[in-house]
Amino acid sequence: MSTAAPTSSPDTSPLMSTQGCIAVLNAGSSSIKFALYEAGTDGPLLFRGQVEQIGLLPHLKVANAAGEIVAERNWTTGSLDHRGATAEILKLGRELLGARPVLAFGHRVVHGGTEFAAPVKVDAQVMAALSRLVPLAPLHQPHNLAPIAAIAEAAPHLPQIACFDAAFHRTQPVLAQEFALPRDLTAAGVRRYGFHGLSYDFIVTRLRETAPMLARARLIIAHLGNGASLCAVRDGRSLASTMGFTAVDGLMMGTRSGALDPGVLLYLMQERGLDAAAIEDLLYRKSGLLGVSGISSDMRTLRKSTAPEAAEAVALFVYRIVREIGSLAAAMGGVDGIVFTAGIGENDAATRADIAAGCGWLGVLLDEDRNRDGNGRISADNSRVSAWVVPTDEEQMIARYTRAALAS
Ligand code: ADP
Repeated sequence: MSTAAPTSSPDTSPLMSTQGCIAVLNAGSSSIKFALYEAGTDGPLLFRGQVEQIGLLPHLKVANAAGEIVAERNWTTGSLDHRGATAEILKLGRELLGARPVLAFGHRVVHGGTEFAAPVKVDAQVMAALSRLVPLAPLHQPHNLAPIAAIAEAAPHLPQIACFDAAFHRTQPVLAQEFALPRDLTAAGVRRYGFHGLSYDFIVTRLRETAPMLARARLIIAHLGNGASLCAVRDGRSLASTMGFTAVDGLMMGTRSGALDPGVLLYLMQERGLDAAAIEDLLYRKSGLLGVSGISSDMRTLRKSTAPEAAEAVALFVYRIVREIGSLAAAMGGVDGIVFTAGIGENDAATRADIAAGCGWLGVLLDEDRNRDGNGRISADNSRVSAWVVPTDEEQMIARYTRAALAS
């Protein structure tokens, strides 16, 4: 990728260029997703890819806009770390784009704390502020910041925009953001932040375009992927969410426990002698669908399994979601619609049907055929609460923010 600093002259604005590109990086704890878009307003996707299983058996795959695989690579050892994976992505991007310059990078950054409620152009001061938030998200924030630092070093004039996962939730009322802890801890930042904000923002933005009435209603959006959370949204603004101080709170997930009686942590420390690292490993990597089933964190594998433990894991996953939907409906004073998104929410009709059955008392009634199709409205015409499947696209949201930041 060649790089070019944007100019301030409207006539030569790189945003108007159909040659330039916006690059998006979404770095997680074991994967880096990336996407390249044309820079113009709502410029189309050019390439999308990811490096998965970083640190284990890394695997890179890139597809073009038509979904055709244009590059694939495996590493047989775990030697490729996040830094190496970023370098591979930049190298490949350069090859794919040829002479077309990247005009800006957009990054997903998990934590903006209470300071950053909107995307921000990263400079040294912003970087220092974001680095101070590492203790709040030690598993994610360092991976988010490392590529920004590497790109800043290689191309200091290239604009980089940080887009925050927690920012969407800054509209929540104070009570929804507080723990019942002594005030000095709340003041020090021990509070509920909420995550998956870029996904929720994308869904709300999409609904505003396609179903404006629905976008203004009282919605519960269910982001059900490897990570999973629910968000209560009214008039497009977050009112409450199931994730809190960290992304381990709330729902049961692929490998994360979700909400836990804090007494369990005391028991693990006092009676089982687990230290912080062992507890972190247990709650983030060995619990959830994987821990309960003892088989897999992957919903597809569990659905295929005939083991009773697999069925129990899925049943607990659904049970926790149904209970939390009740909680969010109470926080919002009712609910008009439920939107399913992410890997499980978009693809697993059986999970959607089980959740809807558990929410029958709220007035949710699915149409079986629509739910099987899983495209748009899936509730019956006479359902009091409508239900929908809307595919999410965090990378596209980041690209939009990056364009907007450049334009301003
Ligand atoms: P991430 O949080 O890593 O982005 P995804 O949104 O890709 O995760 O979701 C991954 C989950 O989606 C896995 O549990 C996977 O089994 C599930 N999933 C993906 N496709 C299907 C499908 N066709 N049917 C059921 N579950 C699916």
